[in-house]
Amino acid sequence: LTDLRGKRVTVAGLGVSGVSAARALKRMGAEVTVVDGGDSDAHRERAAELGAQDVTVRLADAETLPSGTELIVTSPGWKPQSPLFAAAGEAGVPVWGDVELAWRLRGARPGEPAGSGGPPAPWLAVTGTNGKTTTVQMLASILGAAGLRAPAVGNIGTPLIDVVLAEEHYDVLAVELSSYQLHWAPSLRAHSAAVLNLAPDHLDWHGSMQAYAADKGRIYEGNQIACVYNCADPATEELVRGADVEEGCRAIGFTLGTPGPSELGVVDGILVDRAFVENRREQAQELAEVSDVTPAAPHNIANALAAAALARAYGVPPSAVRDGLRAFRPDAHRIAHVADVDGVAYVDDSKATNTHATQASLAAYDSIVWIAGGLAKGATFDELVRESAPRLRAAVLIGADRRLIHEALTRHAPDVPVVDLERTDTGAMAAAVREAARLARHGDTVLMAPACASMDMFVNYNARGDAFTDAVRALAEARSHEVE
Ligand code: ADP
Repeated sequence: LTDLRGKRVTVAGLGVSGVSAARALKRMGAEVTVVDGGDSDAHRERAAELGAQDVTVRLADAETLPSGTELIVTSPGWKPQSPLFAAAGEAGVPVWGDVELAWRLRGARPGEPAGSGGPPAPWLAVTGTNGKTTTVQMLASILGAAGLRAPAVGNIGTPLIDVVLAEEHYDVLAVELSSYQLHWAPSLRAHSAAVLNLAPDHLDWHGSMQAYAADKGRIYEGNQIACVYNCADPATEELVRGADVEEGCRAIGFTLGTPGPSELGVVDGILVDRAFVENRREQAQELAEVSDVTPAAPHNIANALAAAALARAYGVPPSAVRDGLRAFRPDAHRIAHVADVDGVAYVDDSKATNTHATQASLAAYDSIVWIAGGLAKGATFDELVRESAPRLRAAVLIGADRRLIHEALTRHAPDVPVVDLERTDTGAMAAAVREAARLARHGDTVLMAPACASMDMFVNYNARGDAFTDAVRALAEARSHEVE
């Protein structure tokens, strides 16, 4: 149990999660100081709002530890190497992430210790390099179809802490967790959890692939019922084997092929479950058809199987899995078809912010004019380009780290024409779309799947996807006038 009354807590970061953490800590009776390196108008506005709630805010200094700090609660984006944490380490001050805070306070009532609000909702947790949001939304849809009050929370939508402290009662939570959040969540113990896949990403934050994998693997620690892994990604199974779980907790695999015992998989276009079969005389339980999943691309069927595995571990019946999957629709900017112009399809996959996601979407089309580039976050592009080269008609590059992609193209796809726009301004996307339209032939797909983060040019991937969509619509409009 965690009693925060009178504790001096420093919150690192004045973003969405920092602000909600500060409010929650205040409600729990802590003395709260928020620190942030920024000092913009937006920062000051937020500082004033929190100040009115008796929270101290220190701007323009993210490095020194406020004196008397007994606990730090950090925002997910802060790197472990930050000087603030070094200072905390020296002073013996613990550091919690927003998820650790939420976990410790679940079921709490303001001003009282955790646990005082009755039995908290169990967590079904999902992480992975790609597919987290999609899978958690599918899971919430399935749980909802089973009549459970089960929101999708965590790295998406409402901050976890707000859900945990809400007055409403939830039966179970479908929780998306990033590797950052897991890094700072040592005491989390999920009912069941899944690691969807593991590919290099955010290596600049974690320091190495090993450290990244270890942080992801934390999601299995202390699981009660099931650790769900990807049969096609042995690294995920290895994490299960290395985890310390509750007695009786099972390792459950998902595969796009025929499932073995303790696995979910696909047989003749049907998603089947061999892990949680109620009738012992049956070998497998039919859950849904592949065509019930939108889009029915292979990586998305894998997401559906992972969501189904977690729901089944929680005891949800097959009919709810089917109904939940049928009701699910993906969010914007995830392999979204924008328009056809002159027989060329334009597809927005702005959410492909790393090479692994981009590989999945490049694999879904045959003849592609690829728009890519942005912030590489320490990634290399050789494997992506080598695998995808046969499907590339041409590439148009924008953004800060475009040269890394250009070099990989030169090495592994020397015949693919590359246009490097040498631009990092917001207007570059419209120029890239015009250039792609010039390079595309009838039947091609112009695919914006940048394999990079967006923050060098845009506020976030949504803004990047919107810029692409606007540019495509403008192109379509211009063409329709030409025809008239
Ligand atoms: P996350 O929340 O992990 O970022 P999303 O569900 O938002 O994941 O999808 C991110 C990107 O990854 C999208 O571009 C999507 O097309 C792609 N993607 C989704 N699921 C997978 C998967 N299982 N494997 C590879 N790529 C995927």
